[in-house]
Amino acid sequence: MIAENLDEVRKRIDQACERAGRDSKEVTLIAVSKTKPLAMLEEAYAHGSRDFGENWVQEIQEKVPLLPADIHWHMIGHLQRNKVKYIIDKVSLIHSVDSVRLAEEIEKQAEKHNVEMDVLIEVNMAEEETKFGLKKDEVIQMVRECAKLPHVHIKGLMTIAPFVENPEDNRQYFKAIRELSVDISRENIDNVSMGILSMGMTGDFEVAVEEGATLVRVGTGIFGERNYNK
Ligand SMILES: *Cc1c(COP(=O)(O)O)cnc(C)c1O
Repeated sequence: MIAENLDEVRKRIDQACERAGRDSKEVTLIAVSKTKPLAMLEEAYAHGSRDFGENWVQEIQEKVPLLPADIHWHMIGHLQRNKVKYIIDKVSLIHSVDSVRLAEEIEKQAEKHNVEMDVLIEVNMAEEETKFGLKKDEVIQMVRECAKLPHVHIKGLMTIAPFVENPEDNRQYFKAIRELSVDISRENIDNVSMGILSMGMTGDFEVAVEEGATLVRVGTGIFGERNYNK
C-alpha cells in the first residue's frame, strides 16, 4: 500500500515537473510520518524514502534512534523555544522558524551541541489567523536579523497553504512566495540562501511543484488518513 502510494506520488511529481519544464531531481519528496508507527516508516524507507517530516518533538525523540542513520529528518511543526534542545542534534532542517527569538534559541543550542543548523522561514502567505508564520512583509527584516547568527543558516522559505477543495486556489500563494524568495536572494545577504522552497501537501503538491517547490511534504497521500486520538 505505502509502496504503491509512493510510486503514485512520485509519478505525479514527475509529471508536474514535466509540465513546468523542470528537472524532477530538483524536487525532494518528504514523507510526513507524524502519528504513524515505525513499521510504516520502515516500509517507506524500504521503498526509497530518505526524507521524513515530523511535527512533534517527542515523536522525533522516539523515532530517530530506532531508524537508519541515513534518514534526513525534517521538523515541520511549530517549535517551542524550550524544546529546541531536544531536536537540535536530530534533524537536518527546521522548516518552521517564525521568530527571531526562536532563531536565537536555535543558535544557542547549535553552538552548545557543536552543530550547524539549516532552517527555513515559515511564511503565512494567506494570513490565516489559525496558522503560524510571518506575514509577507515581515520576512526580509527577520532574514536580516537571523543572518547574523553564525550557527543558523537560512536556506529558504516554507509555507502551509490554506485547506482548499480546489488546489488551483493555492497557486497564487505558491507564486507569491516564490517571488518573495527571488526578491530576498537578490539582496545577496551573507549566510542566507534561497535555494529551498518547502510547499505543497497531499491536496496541492502538484500545483506547488509547477510553481517551483523544491521540497514537498506529503503525509496522507503516502500513509493514509491520520488518527490523532491514539
Ligand atoms: C501534516 C503536515 C503535512 C502533511 O499533510 P497531508 O495533507 O497529510 O499531506 C505537511 N506539512 C505540514 C506542516 C504538516 O503539518
